[in-house]
Amino acid sequence: MTMYRFFNDDETKGMVPDVCFKLDRAREYFGAPIVMTCGYRTPEHNAEIGGVPNSEHIYGRAADIRAPQDPFMRTKLAWALGAAGFRRIEIAKLHFHVDCSPVKTSPCCWEGDDHR
Ligand SMILES: [Zn+2]
Repeated sequence: MTMYRFFNDDETKGMVPDVCFKLDRAREYFGAPIVMTCGYRTPEHNAEIGGVPNSEHIYGRAADIRAPQDPFMRTKLAWALGAAGFRRIEIAKLHFHVDCSPVKTSPCCWEGDDHR
């Protein structure tokens, strides 16, 4: 049985509940589908795709989401993620990244690029 309203067991495999519950809440606020393009990564997969070493993805504490291209929807998604409790939000042209790091705790929203 899946624990989340909007994300299934495949999508949330290896991910901490904190991130998934926040994504669920963000999806509800956003009012439109949130497409998770990357959640948990094995360290090997992270290295293969050029992820930053020690990426939050290898701890299941990060998610990448397909970024809307409509300016209003981009803003709405960023708002929904913040309203859902995410405190670290990266905004890039094609994806948004959120994570719940136990060590990187300063609230932060930054403009990123689409490499990982
Ligand atoms: Zn990411």
